[in-house]
Amino acid sequence: MENKKTRGSLIIVTGPSGAGKGTVLGKVLSELDNVYYSISATTRQPRPGETDGVNYFFLTRERFEQMVERDEFLEHAEYVGNCYGTPEKPVNDMLEKGFDVILEIEVQGALMVKAKRPDALLVFITPPSFGILEERLRGRGTEADDVVARRMSKARNECAHVDDYDYIVINDALEDAVRDLEAIIRAQRCRRGKKTVIFD
Ligand code: ADP
Ligand code: 5GP
Repeated sequence: MENKKTRGSLIIVTGPSGAGKGTVLGKVLSELDNVYYSISATTRQPRPGETDGVNYFFLTRERFEQMVERDEFLEHAEYVGNCYGTPEKPVNDMLEKGFDVILEIEVQGALMVKAKRPDALLVFITPPSFGILEERLRGRGTEADDVVARRMSKARNECAHVDDYDYIVINDALEDAVRDLEAIIRAQRCRRGKKTVIFD
C-alpha cells in the first residue's frame, strides 16, 4: 500500500485580539511538522519583541497599497486603523509542497479567502469570556487604553461570526486549546482526498 503526499490544507485561524491565537499557534507549530505559518504584511507599528519578516512584514501604507494594486494579496482588510494582508505567492508555493498553511487573520479576510478557496478550513479561537479577554489584553501590556477599548468592541463584532466557522477552540486552559487545534489539523490530514492511498 502506498501513501503519496498530496497538496497541503489551507487552515484559517481567527479570534479576537487577546484570545491567545499567537500563544496557542506558537505551541502547535513547535509540535507539528509540515505546517507553515503565513507571515502577513501590516502597516501597524511593531510591538516590542516583534521582528520584521518573522512576525509580520512591517510596511509603509504606500508599499502596502502598491502590493494591493499589483494584486499580490490573497486577501487584505483593515483592522482598528491599520491594514493587514496575506501575500499570496508563499501560500501557494507551500501548499504545493505539501505543507499545511496557517493564516492567522481576522473575520473579513477569512470570509474572503473562504469565498475564493472553498476547501479552506475555518477555525475560531475564543477566550472563555469577554472579561477574561480584557484581562489578557491588558495583561499583555502592548496596547494603550483606547486601543484596548477599540479591540474589545471589535471582539464583540467578530464573535458574532462564529457560525461561519467549521471548528471552535475555547482557549481556557492553554494545554487543552493546543491539543484541540492539533487534533483539528491532524483530522484534516486524514480526510479522504488528502491522502492518495494505492492498494496493491
Ligand atoms: P492574540 O494572538 O490572540 O492577540 P496572545 O497570544 O498575544 O493573543 O495572548 C494574549 C495574552 O493572553 C498574552 O499575554 C498571553 O500570554 C495570554 N494567554 C494566552 N493564552 C492564555 C491562556 N490559555 N491562559 C492564560 N493566559 C493566556
Ligand atoms: P495584531 O495587530 O493583534 O497583530 O492583529 C490584529 C488582527 O489582524 C488580528 O485579528 C489578526 O488575526 C489580524 N490579521 C493579521 N494578519 C492579517 C492578514 O494578513 N489579513 C487579515 N485580514 N487579518 C490579519
